[in-house]
Amino acid sequence: MSQHDQRQRFLFPDSDIRGEIVQLEASVAPVLGARDYPLVVQGLLAESLAAVTLMTGTLKFEGRLSLQAQGNGAVSLLLAEATHDGGIRGLARFSDDVPLTEQPHLHDLIGQQGLMAITIRPERGSQYQGVVPLEGSTLAACLEDYFRQSEQLPTRLWLAGGNGRAAGLLLQRLPDRIADHEYNAAIWQHVLALADTLSMEELLDLPEETVLHRLFHETPPEVTAPQPVRFQCTCSREKVSRTLQSLGRRELQAILEEQGSITVSCDFCSKDEHFDRVDLDQLIHQLP
Ligand SMILES: [Zn+2]
Repeated sequence: MSQHDQRQRFLFPDSDIRGEIVQLEASVAPVLGARDYPLVVQGLLAESLAAVTLMTGTLKFEGRLSLQAQGNGAVSLLLAEATHDGGIRGLARFSDDVPLTEQPHLHDLIGQQGLMAITIRPERGSQYQGVVPLEGSTLAACLEDYFRQSEQLPTRLWLAGGNGRAAGLLLQRLPDRIADHEYNAAIWQHVLALADTLSMEELLDLPEETVLHRLFHETPPEVTAPQPVRFQCTCSREKVSRTLQSLGRRELQAILEEQGSITVSCDFCSKDEHFDRVDLDQLIHQLP
């Protein structure tokens, strides 16, 4: 059985170091296949999906987390979302001048002076947003900046995207509780050095347990039950109806008279919602 499409948390025993690994394939296929994305944009989108999956596993909340990066570059918008129970979706907007280099600098794609917003929308309680400038050369480096600012926990990420897959590894040092500062510091440096030996191909292609074994067989981490990850879109005919109604009576009347019907397709999953003459008439009549 494939080990893809699950995230796996792990803890290094007798220390305050934890981690998480994720590999996605079937769950990212609808996202990567929704548009004719250039390979580098596919790679970036895949990385962002791995990142939000890791973050929802690491930050404690029930609800939805979104990563949104915007700039003046060829990729004008990068959007990835994950729910605490493993539902993901995402999209990117791009222009024709996407660079074709294999490992582009993040600035070559999103542009200079880009911003990344991480928004957490809990099912209960109020929304929280953290914004960081895109100063790093990779998405992983920018997310490490985010963790430094908003979580204040030393956190490292390795992200990979390619061949229709997404993968990521996260290591985090928690406040000293189980072990003393010196011991935690030593283990932290040790596991970081080991994780830095991992190639992106290994992270994408090897089973999760093989990656963990190859890296950490000297100090094997304790793994918890894996959590499945799947593609999940939250669009509905009801939401599209509300969006159409928000255009207002005059605009809807104009669509009815000039076009007779309208089809709205979801940016995330490409699902079409068709509204014919009768549907449009009904929407107009429901307006106050
Ligand atoms: Zn949708």
